[in-house]
Amino acid sequence: MTADSAPAEDPHHEPGQAPNPLGHGPVLLLTGAKLADGRVVDVRISGDRIQAVGTVGSLGPLPAMPGAPTTTTGARIDLGGYLLLPAPAEPHAHYDVAFAAAHPAPPPDTRTDLVRRITEAALTSLGYGATAQRTHVRIGDVHGLRRLEAVLTARQSLRGLAELQAVAMPRLLTGLAGADGRAQLRDALKLGATAAGGCPDLDPDPAGYVQVLLEAAREADCPVDLHTAATDPTTLARLAAALAPLRPRVTLGPCSALTPGGATVLATAGIRLVLLPQNGSCTGLEGPAIGLRPTLVRELAAARVPFAAGSGALRDLSNPAGRPDPLEAAYLLAAGGVLTADAAYESISGQARAALGLPVVRIDAGFPAELLAVRGDSLPGALAGGHSRLVVHSGRIVSRTSAVREFADTVALALPRQGSPG
Ligand SMILES: [Zn+2]
Repeated sequence: MTADSAPAEDPHHEPGQAPNPLGHGPVLLLTGAKLADGRVVDVRISGDRIQAVGTVGSLGPLPAMPGAPTTTTGARIDLGGYLLLPAPAEPHAHYDVAFAAAHPAPPPDTRTDLVRRITEAALTSLGYGATAQRTHVRIGDVHGLRRLEAVLTARQSLRGLAELQAVAMPRLLTGLAGADGRAQLRDALKLGATAAGGCPDLDPDPAGYVQVLLEAAREADCPVDLHTAATDPTTLARLAAALAPLRPRVTLGPCSALTPGGATVLATAGIRLVLLPQNGSCTGLEGPAIGLRPTLVRELAAARVPFAAGSGALRDLSNPAGRPDPLEAAYLLAAGGVLTADAAYESISGQARAALGLPVVRIDAGFPAELLAVRGDSLPGALAGGHSRLVVHSGRIVSRTSAVREFADTVALALPRQGSPG
């Protein structure tokens, strides 16, 4: 039998989170963690920030707080065998339709059921390591603002565990038929939607849709995160020019069917892209799934287009097998040598956080304590099979997954220690 060990809490320190008498929240010491560059370090976290990073043992025991009893010094976690990384983020999800494919009939659509499914989807994603997540949610038509309200309720209940952002997606915005969408979009942004979105190609007047959206985004001082089914560089260039006034607060996705030349347009326009390596497209496009072409990824990388990678689906009708694991998205980009492991990971962490408008995370003093510890000794190793994970959000351990694999004794005896599942 081989059993993978979970990161161990030091018995000499109080387990869990203790209050920090300095008023900056709990103190956490992560020891013996390997970084992607090969260094093995201790990391001290105070409140929601990384306070110090040093060689193993150099940060000493958790600091004694002036006037505080020794039992409130915090928690110490041994991360030997783990790789410590900036946490991934989920830049493109559709939680209001998550798990729809798992139901024999359309799932119940009550507010309670919506909140439950959205919360479950967000927690599933968090367990994989995404401490910040953005979900696109349909507004208007028969939905009104009901689905958005459910996302906002889930966001409230997830506070402290993960950051959840909502992108309001009206279907129509132009003409008489778009009057309801225009009103609902403004209401959605007032209600708390983080960004304005949708898919202009579904409106009879795509250019008009973009203009209405930009105006609403300017009014609400919020970013735009659009779907597009554009495939040719000319259409894309027109869309990019229309979006230019709102740069850099513009994100476009999933663009899986872009024909050659599209990457150059995006590079010139300076617009960030979100790719969905798992199935290419998503429910927001309302069309058949279009797989992501490896050659497109190469073109984007060569043209230096900033792109993030997300999941796009969690067992919804656009991808019944969708799994919101950022490491899987990175694995798919790295598999076959399309990207290096470093570049693939950057697309699910640094670039994904940038797409969400969040500050940079580095494992260094002063940076936000948004971290993922994953079983493995290198980034390629973690992408190949890092199942055991520990997730830190806002300086607090918010999720822990421990993988255990068992073999019959005779087989296990012949296996080296590396037989552990990771
Ligand atoms: Zn989508």
